[in-house]
Amino acid sequence: MSDPLLPARPDAGAAFATVQVQSGYTPGVAQNTAIPPVYQSNAYEFASLAQARDVFALRTLGNTYSRSSNPTQLVLEERVARLEGGRSAAAVASGQAAAAGAILALASAGHHVVAARQLYGGTVDLLDDSLASLGIDVTFVDQDDLDGWRAAVRPETRAFFAESITNPLATVLDVRAVADIAHEAGVPLVIDNTVATPYLLRPGDHGADIIVHSATKYLGGHGSALGGVVVDIGSFDFGAAPERWPQFTRAYPRFGDLVLWERFGAGQALTVYLKTRYVHDFGPTLSAWAAAQLLQGIETLDIRMQRHSRTALEVAQALDEHPAVARVHHPGLEANSWHERARHYLPRGASAVFAFDLVATGDAAADDRRVERVIDGLRVVRLVANIGDARSFVSHPASMTHGHLSPAQLAEAGIGPTTIRLSIGLEDPGDIVADLRAALDAGA
Ligand SMILES: *Cc1c(COP(=O)(O)O)cnc(C)c1O
Repeated sequence: MSDPLLPARPDAGAAFATVQVQSGYTPGVAQNTAIPPVYQSNAYEFASLAQARDVFALRTLGNTYSRSSNPTQLVLEERVARLEGGRSAAAVASGQAAAAGAILALASAGHHVVAARQLYGGTVDLLDDSLASLGIDVTFVDQDDLDGWRAAVRPETRAFFAESITNPLATVLDVRAVADIAHEAGVPLVIDNTVATPYLLRPGDHGADIIVHSATKYLGGHGSALGGVVVDIGSFDFGAAPERWPQFTRAYPRFGDLVLWERFGAGQALTVYLKTRYVHDFGPTLSAWAAAQLLQGIETLDIRMQRHSRTALEVAQALDEHPAVARVHHPGLEANSWHERARHYLPRGASAVFAFDLVATGDAAADDRRVERVIDGLRVVRLVANIGDARSFVSHPASMTHGHLSPAQLAEAGIGPTTIRLSIGLEDPGDIVADLRAALDAGA
């Protein structure tokens, strides 16, 4: 049985487009299928009891039961790990499961996480509510306040968590600066790279240690399968402070005297721990079918992200010129506060999730009716609370995705009553611009 975490084709020097199409799958087994099959099998047969014992004791890595791993999922893991420049990955059922798994692999009751205030709402709920109730404390900081990150560190801190490009305002993180502060504090930086994807930005190249994805969005790209991935870049040395990381550096009780750090080392210990503990125990397993759909999406990631980014910038520029629009939050625009940072971190484009504010009149009820008329007037851009789809979507953060925030929290997040979010798809750019112009002309 081959070691499923070892790299398969293509070789280490291959370029992005080759890796996104081929990585993780080596044809040559029984049926010689050229593309990764959907392995619809709940369990796996062993050649001998001796082999079964080796796999169950983690002496060799292999498939036992599909809650823990499935061959289609392993192809996805290998491919996303390669695209991010990482050493290994765990694919799970959703982006939420990926964020939860990454944090739980690093922190447990009594520990603490420092996180960006600008995080995706589901991640805020996870940290603020579910993980807090398990005894993992969180401090939220403004992600651009470097002193804030530094000041939030405690002896119990075990991770920093932020997004490379945030939603809905498309702010860009200074990955390197925050990574340096995390490392001074002796903890890894976890980056949610969902909006950027590794085609636009590889946070591991700028000091981040662990990358999480909602593969539901751009990796899959077609809005037809949920999934999440945790990539271990392999840069963080858990062995340097063994007393802080006993889950990796001391015997792993359920496997006798096995020490993950000794057996698997940097870049794999965390992945093996995450899979054999939290995926095994909680069961947020990715189905083979969803893994196959996500893999097929990834095969066009580079050309889709080029098109998404180019069209979104074109739409942002058109909105910026419209008299009914007060402000466009897109880092590709020169007046945007994150423009210089985007030029540094995102030379290939700034993805396609951003927002704009209608000019507010001060009459709240009238403004709300204008927002409604504009959104309901759209024909090409659809009213859907999702991002990263081939279709263009619009949503109203203040009453939809962020509807449970108080007016003060909304203001702190930079979201006003007339803020409208877009996720620009792959339709003809002219059609998208014309649709928005027509809705603004008629409704605002
Ligand atoms: C959607 C999203 C998530 C959650 O992913 P699911 O696949 O819906 O669980 C996490 N982070 C970001 C940035 C997202 O957009």
